[in-house]
Amino acid sequence: MKVENNKVVTVHYTGTFPESEEVFDSSKDKDPMAFLVGHKNMIEGFERELIGAEIDETREFTLTPEDAYGNRNEEAIQEMPRDQFPEELEIGMMFQAQSENGPMQFTIVEVMEDVVKIDFNHPMAGKILKFSVTVIEIRDASEEELTHGHAHGAHGVHE
Ligand code: ZN
Repeated sequence: MKVENNKVVTVHYTGTFPESEEVFDSSKDKDPMAFLVGHKNMIEGFERELIGAEIDETREFTLTPEDAYGNRNEEAIQEMPRDQFPEELEIGMMFQAQSENGPMQFTIVEVMEDVVKIDFNHPMAGKILKFSVTVIEIRDASEEELTHGHAHGAHGVHE
């Protein structure tokens, strides 16, 4: 069996920033990750690079921001009054704001006397990402998983 759309694939993965070689996420020492291929559960490039892989195969690939979390948009950096935030405020803290399109996450980038600079960009936007991914298991998705558009864990049970 090979990785293709509508399969549930279980992988071990390590993601690094190629410039600093810093690991930003890894399934090492954790359970492997299962996902349904072809239903936008993963970033686009991640799935594309795994198509055709077989069990026990390891693939290494580097994704541009376009294939990962998108480019940064400088207009997504905004200022808000300082008094709308708690007293204890640190750079890098994340909050949620209500918008017309539902909740949106933002990150504190600068704290000044009267205003706080916030960034609505995804924290991974604009970044080049390198992955090493090993395929552990491939199975057909159940009807229920296809209807829901996501994987239901290792044995197809809803979690
Ligand atoms: Zn479900």
